Amino acid sequence: MHEIVVNLHMHTRYSDGSGSHKDIAQAAIRTGLDVVIVTDHNVLVQGLEGYYRVGRSRVLLLVGQEVHDQDRNPQKNHLLVFNANRDLSTLADDPQALINGVNDAGGLSFLAHPRDPEAPAFKETDISWEAWDVHGYTGIELWNGLSELKTVLHTKLHGAFYAFFPHFIAHHPMLEVLQRWDDLLANGARVVAVGGSDAHALHMHMGPVKRVIFPYDFHFRTVNTHVLIPEPLTGEVPTDKKMIYEALAAGRCFVGYDLPASTRGFVFKGKGLEQSVLMGEEISAKGGVTLQAHLPTPAEIRLLKDGKTIGIWRDSQACAYSAIEPGVYRVEVWRNYLGLKRGWIFSNPIYVR
Ligand SMILES: [Zn+2]
Ligand SMILES: [Zn+2]
Repeated sequence: MHEIVVNLHMHTRYSDGSGSHKDIAQAAIRTGLDVVIVTDHNVLVQGLEGYYRVGRSRVLLLVGQEVHDQDRNPQKNHLLVFNANRDLSTLADDPQALINGVNDAGGLSFLAHPRDPEAPAFKETDISWEAWDVHGYTGIELWNGLSELKTVLHTKLHGAFYAFFPHFIAHHPMLEVLQRWDDLLANGARVVAVGGSDAHALHMHMGPVKRVIFPYDFHFRTVNTHVLIPEPLTGEVPTDKKMIYEALAAGRCFVGYDLPASTRGFVFKGKGLEQSVLMGEEISAKGGVTLQAHLPTPAEIRLLKDGKTIGIWRDSQACAYSAIEPGVYRVEVWRNYLGLKRGWIFSNPIYVR
């Protein structure tokens, strides 16, 4: 398998972002990403997908959309839609009909920023996901760069601080969202976790200070989705797009917070009597399954079964565990950064049945 780094969920001038698709592609190349997926609000921008190049470097830019009901007050239930190849915003008023529409179109859907609190100092409302009775979606956005910012914007002063020192913002996916994910998994659902940036590159004006806050480049260095594809990217858009979306649909990916240190090289796999699997996949418990995780550099590895921590390996680069019971097993990795222990890697689960 080949690992590629994907940054997904971001906005351009076609909705409420400040940059163009070309700006995004250039920022992605500067920061060493392989793929970006642009998702403007309630519009599917056509004709801009493809490889963008600067010198000998290239990035694949794909276009999806983020759909929500603009007549709803407050405007909750944002859904990221990929690979549907048509504008599905006409179905926005009914989340289940929207998800069904995505499936009919052969697309993927992720519940965006499942918990997104209000930030009254900036007149930002709560736009969490609320329609939890839906089914049939691909997964959830476990870690969203912008929602987490809203949790720390207690006053305007906090806003100014984080605008200049954005490295202090990201801590870990919201615990409520992790809990929700574990609950969904415990109920037998296969729910793929991805990390999104929700980059807007907004312009801020505070008195004499004018600044682009949280530029695309910054987001592209922080929370990414690392995706495992069977062949290296070929440079052919249809082939590469298919490999990427198949891997995301299967959950063959992990969420990596690449700012403290690159998460490239993380592996979580399982080996049973007759087969070997990667994260996102299912394996029989019969005869036991050896679960193994490997990190690019040492950190604290936690193994969870059905949402409960069953093993902790501190300052380790690898771990192995013999699983004999069926369950949903996933790995979290934590490391110290800027004086706090922060989430670094969140794997998709291996389903031992
Ligand atoms: Zn949104
Ligand atoms: Zn968004």
